[in-house]
Amino acid sequence: MRIGVAGAGTAGLVTAWLLDPCHEILLLEKRGDLGGNARTVRVGAGDRAQYVDLGVHEVSDQFALWARLVRSVGLGQDSLLSVPASRTLRHTDGARPYLVGPHTPEADRGREVILGPAWDALGCLGREASRWEEEGLGEEVTVAQASDWTTLNAEMKHDVVHALPASVFGCGIHDVAHLAARGVGGFFAAAQPSAQEAASMHSLRGGTQELARALAGQLNTAEVRLRAPLHRLESHSDRFAMVEADGRRHLVDAVVLAVPPYAATAALQSLAGCTRLRSALDAFTYQELVYAAHLDPFGMPENRRHWSTTNVTVHDGWSETTLWYGPGHDADVFVSQITHRGTPRRQVARAAFRAPLPTPAAHWARRRLTEHSKEGLYFAGAYTRTLDSQEDAVASAVDVASDLAPESPRLAQLTTLCQEA
Ligand SMILES: Cc1cc2nc3c(=O)[nH]c(=O)nc-3n(C[C@H](O)[C@H](O)[C@H](O)COP(=O)(O)OP(=O)(O)OC[C@H]3O[C@@H](n4cnc5c(N)ncnc54)[C@H](O)[C@@H]3O)c2cc1C
Repeated sequence: MRIGVAGAGTAGLVTAWLLDPCHEILLLEKRGDLGGNARTVRVGAGDRAQYVDLGVHEVSDQFALWARLVRSVGLGQDSLLSVPASRTLRHTDGARPYLVGPHTPEADRGREVILGPAWDALGCLGREASRWEEEGLGEEVTVAQASDWTTLNAEMKHDVVHALPASVFGCGIHDVAHLAARGVGGFFAAAQPSAQEAASMHSLRGGTQELARALAGQLNTAEVRLRAPLHRLESHSDRFAMVEADGRRHLVDAVVLAVPPYAATAALQSLAGCTRLRSALDAFTYQELVYAAHLDPFGMPENRRHWSTTNVTVHDGWSETTLWYGPGHDADVFVSQITHRGTPRRQVARAAFRAPLPTPAAHWARRRLTEHSKEGLYFAGAYTRTLDSQEDAVASAVDVASDLAPESPRLAQLTTLCQEA
């Protein structure tokens, strides 16, 4: 079969990689680069150059599929960095943070760890998130409906339980109560805080785009077209025509839409029998996000003894992060969300994103996409599953490949390895 894949983010690339040994693949990508929300920039020159991520930057050590994928594409153990997931929380106007979580025992000899009520509230969020998962809480239940947080005062509920997820999704702090609890909790359930040492996250030494490039490097026969946005899909007897923005047409037997929902709905505009699919895709809502990499300590606490890997500043109803690439790096490099605050003085790179929010309506939409599926048309992407994560992006590609190429040796490699884990 000839299969067209639109979108070269993690989901599209993994789909193409899984199908490549069994089918003829055409991959269309709108941008001039691979990776989608994985955007790595090189900061500095020569031996002192560092790779920093403006978008996807870390994965949980619970992401089994992702870890197996990294191994399968030949990125060895030395490609992975283990990063302590320490957190500082502070108000923009407060000199002293109200939370400085532990980092590593060695680093903490020079740091001032501040626990107290905010630490207890973080523990409460982790426990509730684990309970939502263990009890299989319905994916349409909101954060406000899932827990009453009676053990916390209003300040801790706002500044921790709502501010931390808001910093992950980029939405307003008050919007978190209306997000789906499972879509939020997945980011906090695995990270039960220990007062001695932060949980460890993984990142790729060469940045997360390294995985995208490794996947593309292993495509044998696939044709990859960059700066080639899919404009629309048309029916062509029992095949599909993928029409690019410049009018170029490609005939394929099946299509995998691994683009964000707003791009999928646009592509389906003139395809008959897709009204219900389009209304499902239209139910997603988005958050615009802007990130900058910089060399000045914009967004960091004044006192270096309060610096963590993730530093969250609560301000004006928003909470925004600054990631610190250190210690362990040659020079201090930072990546900040700057959607609702000023600009760093020594900015070296910048990128904008549009991310779907985990709302109850998104859950409804996912169910409709499955119920109204159309023969030969597939959807892949983190948004088709509960968590907007690397793991769910890979899992969505595995789902599609299980249908289109159950015999794929790469699929067997990923899923068998996963069962062994
Ligand atoms: C700022 C940010 C930070 C994140 N950080 C993390 C993190 O640290 N860890 C984590 O696990 N997850 C993180 N995520 C979640 C991230 O979205 C997923 O991990 C994953 O990268 C999603 O992959 P995807 O392929 O589903 O979508 P995308 O990465 O959005 O890929 C979709 C692709 O489709 C392309 N496209 C769009 N329109 C068209 C068109 N018309 N034709 C052709 N191509 C088109 C886009 O250019 C893009 O390449 C982050 C998300 C954002 C926005």
